Amino acid sequence: MPTYTRLTDEHIAQLTAMLDPERVSVKAADLDQHSRDQSFHEAHLPEAVIWPESTEEVSRVLRFANANLIPVTAWGAGTSLEGNSLAVYGGIVMDFSRMNRILNVRAEDFQVDVQPGLTRLELNKALQRYGLFFTPEPGANASIGGMIANNASGIKTIKYGATKDNVLRLEVVQANGDVLHVGTRARKDSSGYDLLHLFVGSEGTLGLVTEATLKLEPLPANYSATLAAFRAIEPAIQTVVDIVGAGLEPSALEFVDTETIRALRLDKGLDLVEAPTLIVEFNGTSDSEGLVSAQAICEQNGAINFRAASGLEERNRLWEARHHTYESLLRQHPGKAQQIVDVCVPISRYPEIVLYANDVLTEHGLLGYKFGHAGDGNLHINIIHEPDSAADIERVQAAYALIVERAIDLEGTATGEHGVGIGKRKFIVRQHGQALNVMRQIKDLLDPNGILNPGKIFLE
Ligand SMILES: Cc1cc2nc3c(=O)[nH]c(=O)nc-3n(C[C@H](O)[C@H](O)[C@H](O)COP(=O)(O)OP(=O)(O)OC[C@H]3O[C@@H](n4cnc5c(N)ncnc54)[C@H](O)[C@@H]3O)c2cc1C
Repeated sequence: MPTYTRLTDEHIAQLTAMLDPERVSVKAADLDQHSRDQSFHEAHLPEAVIWPESTEEVSRVLRFANANLIPVTAWGAGTSLEGNSLAVYGGIVMDFSRMNRILNVRAEDFQVDVQPGLTRLELNKALQRYGLFFTPEPGANASIGGMIANNASGIKTIKYGATKDNVLRLEVVQANGDVLHVGTRARKDSSGYDLLHLFVGSEGTLGLVTEATLKLEPLPANYSATLAAFRAIEPAIQTVVDIVGAGLEPSALEFVDTETIRALRLDKGLDLVEAPTLIVEFNGTSDSEGLVSAQAICEQNGAINFRAASGLEERNRLWEARHHTYESLLRQHPGKAQQIVDVCVPISRYPEIVLYANDVLTEHGLLGYKFGHAGDGNLHINIIHEPDSAADIERVQAAYALIVERAIDLEGTATGEHGVGIGKRKFIVRQHGQALNVMRQIKDLLDPNGILNPGKIFLE
């Protein structure tokens, strides 16, 4: 790691001259607010927070920071779960919340141009009147820039893909302040190296996104969802493999274990059977056919209870509750902390990873809530622990490491959607092998002074 320059009063004065004074802050409250994401990682105070309003301002600040060896960490909504947006080397946090405009809706092309600070909920609210929506749906109200940088995904990824599948074009400011356009507005492109997807998932370490063209989908006219409860975990997770294997195309296929169902029932007052459950949803024209076939597979695998989420309101309530699992668990365990596991494996190995994780938790005497975007092979576990108990944290870390390492053994990945950040750096060394060295060379080429979000993705 290079030796970075600490910000001086002179640097702050220069930044203030580049932006309005009220958009450069060294106030303790602003620094503190940008020192934590939603993860278990310790806080890191930046030395200044700035709020750019244009690509030109981003470019000017980066040129200045690069020349002075000052780290710059982009900030979207700060909902990362792996420390991705923490300024571990101090320097500047660039908060994109003021670059939050919808620039152009091109409904006829199913596309929208946006600035990165716009949140997904704001975007989808505005798109409603066009009958369109941006499909990636992480549980939090993330910014588009943060979703692109982390390649976020969610419950609808099984049908529509992750963020990377729904971004067509980016405007990116490089570490030296140069502005780059990658991708096109065409839905297909085979014109050279795929730089667009190099930036997606790069966690703000290769360049900062200042504009994006996103792919949109028509809002489905109808949904049909069912909850299938099973006597045990094994048939539930085998059913996931069977539904995907049968070529059915649900718009969501989520696994929720008994403990999580209980927490949602108690916290949200949902009428749910306390058992390992699959939530299967179809939307679009062939929805009822798909649902009937999926239900038949659930029955063959011994589902003990079916409940249709009848009507849009009930369906929305269900997903709303599922999205707020983290908060529900906080309320169920006041004063406790949660360490969140995010691994993803090939679908045929899903039962193996879930059962392995179950055993590991039991062996370590830990309470972990298991759920996830099962149709993608994505498993999350929220492990509950005492925040201040070293022994507890050690046990959690040991269990966490075993589960992540097993996902890699099963030819999966250390992170399906939360990104590498700080927490997954050590695991991706084995996962990527020589490919990680190539990533390092790319990083050194695009950011030779290492000013962009240092301390992420690579172990120093
Ligand atoms: C309750 C809860 C549920 C969640 N559920 C999901 C889920 O289902 N699926 C999922 O994928 N994630 C989930 N997440 C994680 C999180 O919401 C995503 O990782 C999201 O993409 C982070 O977006 P953000 O705007 O908060 O970005 P931040 O956390 O602010 O930043 C994320 C990364 O993006 C970089 N960045 C931000 N803006 C830019 C920019 N303009 N240019 C370049 N880099 C930039 C940052 O430096 C950082 O590396 C969840 C989080 C919470 C708290």
